[in-house]
Amino acid sequence: MADTSGTPGKLAARWAGFGTSIFTEMTELARARGAVNLAQGFPDFHGPEELLRAIAAHVETSHHQYAPGNGEERLRRAVARFVAATTGVERDWATEVTITTGATEAIYATVNAFVNPGDRVVVFEPLYDSYAQAVAQAGGVLVPIRLHAPDWRVDWDELDRARDAGFALLVLNSPHNPTGKVFDEDELARIAAALRATGAVALCDEVYEQMTYDGTRHVSLSSLPEVRDQVVRVSSAAKTFGFTGLKVGWATASPELSRAVRLVHQATVFSTTPFLQTAIAQVLEDDAWMARYTADLRTTYQAKRDLLTRALTGAGFDVPTVRGTYFVMASFARLAPGLTDVEMTRRLVEEKGVAAIPPSVFHARPPGPLPWLRFAFCKRDDTLALAAQRLGGADRTR
Ligand code: PMP
Ligand code: GLN
Repeated sequence: MADTSGTPGKLAARWAGFGTSIFTEMTELARARGAVNLAQGFPDFHGPEELLRAIAAHVETSHHQYAPGNGEERLRRAVARFVAATTGVERDWATEVTITTGATEAIYATVNAFVNPGDRVVVFEPLYDSYAQAVAQAGGVLVPIRLHAPDWRVDWDELDRARDAGFALLVLNSPHNPTGKVFDEDELARIAAALRATGAVALCDEVYEQMTYDGTRHVSLSSLPEVRDQVVRVSSAAKTFGFTGLKVGWATASPELSRAVRLVHQATVFSTTPFLQTAIAQVLEDDAWMARYTADLRTTYQAKRDLLTRALTGAGFDVPTVRGTYFVMASFARLAPGLTDVEMTRRLVEEKGVAAIPPSVFHARPPGPLPWLRFAFCKRDDTLALAAQRLGGADRTR
């Protein structure tokens, strides 16, 4: 569904085939049709007051010139503590923590720091769209490893073949967008073995680290001692605090890998807004508040997951329980057999007034029949209730 119609003729070849992001496209469509937007993953409610107040205060008191390129010392120290507390991995704030302009920039910097033209980059498919874009910029070649529905089990044969052929970088997103899969310790051990065998770098995108349900434990690949120095771990304040507009993220890695990531970071954005950094640091430093806040976050989102799952199940979708992220994947195989995911997305917007994401856009290879849609549940309860009412109600066009 990528809209490439307005693509300029002088566009560099490596960008051919990319168009406006599906997230922008679906949000605009939802707005135009008055549909409930369960497509783009952004909360339609405010994040914590404490962070808003800290930002307001730091606007007044912070300096407003370039922040140090690698990040404000206060935030790097706070991130090092937070990472140690949540993953068990100790990172030195000065040499192993880099503050970036959102996780998106950390992903771009990491891919471009380690991938040469023609290098092979392993990704788990379906894959978040930023990875393909960053790999295209670096001139790398995607090597997709299928996650098979309905439980999104890894295709280990594909990973074994990729290991034998060698690769420069492996991208692991856990908890995983769009499937909600949280990779377990056995899976991480097998991935770590492939990393040891190839000596490749791993980019671990853990932006949904705090969103796990039913007591599921998120384990960071970087906490496996045998690959600690091969992993660049990326996370973001945007997800943890529910403010996607913040665009403050971080990459934590060994000094050697951090030096490489910092070179690309320096060449792209150089540094990130200082008062946002120090305000986020202030909130992260309050251990007792953070423990309460993240526990509440999980409880709130788990209830929202259940609300949306009930609504979709009631409307005839099959919805495997998701353990992480704020997305569910719902199968419409019984509801509308034979439709493609793009056709079903269109039908849902037009006939029901609910917008979702067709997951075929998250594929590097043609996925074959894909009777699934991705719905975001990071929405107010009344938004989810309206979606439930529309999904269960009569078609709007009749
Ligand atoms: N990684 C994944 C898997 C995501 O879903 C998102 C969504 N926003 C990002 C990275 C980007 O994070 P940020 O907003 O911090 O750039
Ligand atoms: N990560 C968000 C999602 O998956 C969207 C990010 C974006 O719009 N670029 O919905």
